[in-house]
Amino acid sequence: MRVLVVGANVGGAVAAGDLAATGWDVTLIERDLKRKKPCGGAIPPKAMSEFGIPESIIERKTTRAVVIGPSGSQVSMDVRGTAPRADDYIIMVTREVLDRTMRAKAATAGADVRECAFVSHEQQPDGTQRVKLRHRDGREEYENFDFVVGADGAGSLVAKSCGRAPVKHASAIQERLALPDDAMEYYAHTAELYLGDDISPDFYGWVFPKSDHVAVGTGCKPEHANRSYAFLEGVKARAGSKLRGARRILLEGHPLPMQRYKKLVYGNTMLVGDAGGMVAHTSGEGIYFAMASGRMAAQTLVLHATDHRSPLTRYEKVWQKKYGAMFDFLEFLETASYTSNFKREFFVDMCATRDVQQLTFDSYLFKEMAKMAPGDHLRMGYEAATRAVVAWMRPRTPLAQAPPQITAKEALRATRAAIGDGVAADETPAFAS
Ligand SMILES: Cc1cc2nc3c(=O)[nH]c(=O)nc-3n(C[C@H](O)[C@H](O)[C@H](O)COP(=O)(O)OP(=O)(O)OC[C@H]3O[C@@H](n4cnc5c(N)ncnc54)[C@H](O)[C@@H]3O)c2cc1C
Repeated sequence: MRVLVVGANVGGAVAAGDLAATGWDVTLIERDLKRKKPCGGAIPPKAMSEFGIPESIIERKTTRAVVIGPSGSQVSMDVRGTAPRADDYIIMVTREVLDRTMRAKAATAGADVRECAFVSHEQQPDGTQRVKLRHRDGREEYENFDFVVGADGAGSLVAKSCGRAPVKHASAIQERLALPDDAMEYYAHTAELYLGDDISPDFYGWVFPKSDHVAVGTGCKPEHANRSYAFLEGVKARAGSKLRGARRILLEGHPLPMQRYKKLVYGNTMLVGDAGGMVAHTSGEGIYFAMASGRMAAQTLVLHATDHRSPLTRYEKVWQKKYGAMFDFLEFLETASYTSNFKREFFVDMCATRDVQQLTFDSYLFKEMAKMAPGDHLRMGYEAATRAVVAWMRPRTPLAQAPPQITAKEALRATRAAIGDGVAADETPAFAS
């Protein structure tokens, strides 16, 4: 069987590697093999063994997550699920290294990795896919495949070629800041999450540590994207002196899917990862889900090829069964906790409870919804109700306000003013995939 996998980042590389390992004739294409995917690079430890990611690429193991509310209220949480384990930490990687590693694994398994772009495709009467490809020198040609896997991210051309409307997305923006050793010490095992109108009306801001720098970012819905730079400045302003002596090494941005699709199969074409909208609300996490969906798509293809009675749409059902409830919960949590400063303060309060911490980390670390006894539900309900009342009655602390719109140049000036002159790069994010 000949399969074309479009997009050679995490989702595509896992699908291609798994199919090649079972003897399939796999072509894995990437429009730009040198591109760095803008990304926070936080992954759960579960991903390491599941997808054979070598420990050597780990930049940091984060054992503490600090959530900071609009008034400056904060909760520091140990990264730990219901039962303590040796790998209770969030893994930090850089995407350029992770993607390169996963691509190399796919090539070792037998996938033919090529640098060229998918343009469009058409299903032929015999079920095969006639695909138009464009090479870097502009040359275009057609090739035939039995199946196509679209792992080409938020602006998926494969999905478009199948007739699907573009995925609704948020705009995420991130700056990589090199910190001097003494400033880096605080972030050695700590990730920070900031909430407030000054950070984003829709999402959270983050400071994620890497070995020699921190990734500072935020995201927002398209209607607020004109204030992206101001929101990013908001995160840095709140982190304040912890970023002393910082030097900007990169400013990057990219769309982040904010819409889930139940339809992931179009004839002999399947969509995985961001192309299928598989990003968890609340956290914006998509790396694990891209790899997991790449594997599920590959397994479904292999099953279908050996038994035609097993349809490709089985992939949609298996995905929904495994992760549907988790995505529903995270979407609910996003609406319940991020959409106003009051709710964000309450969310920070709730993060102090062990039940919420366990639910959060069980679902993040192990990708399973924590099983709760009826007594636990009652306890959580009581705790939420009392904390909501206390939050409502609490004297109002001044809350961080939404920033005005600023341009990329003004943001650069603000960065210089806040963290000094060592700003090296001034790349304006394209927000294109
Ligand atoms: C700023 C930011 C921070 C994030 N932080 C995190 C985080 O900390 N943790 C986490 O889990 N997730 C995070 N995410 C989400 C995560 O990056 C994505 O969910 C994940 O990369 C999806 O992987 P993918 O393989 O599906 O798609 P992508 O990684 O987007 O890869 C798609 C690939 O397809 C290629 N491509 C596109 N079109 C074509 C074409 N026509 N022909 C050939 N190739 C093509 C692209 O060049 C790209 O390499 C973040 C996202 C953003 C934007």
